[in-house]
Amino acid sequence: MVERGVGVLFVGSGKLVVLAGPSGVGKGAVISELLKSKENLKVSVSATTRKKRDGEKEGLDYFFKTVSEFEALIQGDMLLEYASYNSNYYGTPKKGVMDALSAGRDVVLEIEVQGALQIKAKRIGAVLIFLSPPSMEELEKRLRGRGTETETNIKKRLEIARQEMKSMSEFDHVIVNNNSKEAACELLARVFGEKGGSAWGD
Ligand code: 5GP
Repeated sequence: MVERGVGVLFVGSGKLVVLAGPSGVGKGAVISELLKSKENLKVSVSATTRKKRDGEKEGLDYFFKTVSEFEALIQGDMLLEYASYNSNYYGTPKKGVMDALSAGRDVVLEIEVQGALQIKAKRIGAVLIFLSPPSMEELEKRLRGRGTETETNIKKRLEIARQEMKSMSEFDHVIVNNNSKEAACELLARVFGEKGGSAWGD
């Protein structure tokens, strides 16, 4: 059964939450905080053609694909959204998301802005959150601090980030990530109506 509520897609009773924002802003850390209090939350695992980083695991961090494998997913209409980001494809496999929503689970997508706007255009009632850095200087500090990117990639990611920041007003909610615990708390309050702070006993 599919019912449309105010800004939320109910398939069973699951909600689809899209968490977007520039690379390095801390989307992953906010999701880790969310998982501490929302055990039922499913984090969608994306497909990508990007090279695997040290420590990343197939099926946990991403499904790593060749370009032709990824293009077969596009042709087969297997993706809920996809985008080319910094010369690689990234996309959300449809089935995992739909199965979890049908089973009544809430689902969160951790994606970049073009993909989030594709989901918005589908009008399936997802809640769109833009996670913003406190400043571009802070974003650069976080991206460098992560130690995952070459200098060229850092520059490209920051350039993309400047463009992404211009789409902020397209989102249902903008949350500034000063601190991942606080940002997660704010997300829980805004999307799920949960009282801030109580999830962590403070
Ligand atoms: P990274 O290479 O740092 O893992 O990811 C680069 C960017 O792609 C990040 O902003 C990340 O959130 C985004 N991303 C990850 N998975 C997906 C996806 O399935 N779709 C889209 N559109 N973006 C994604």
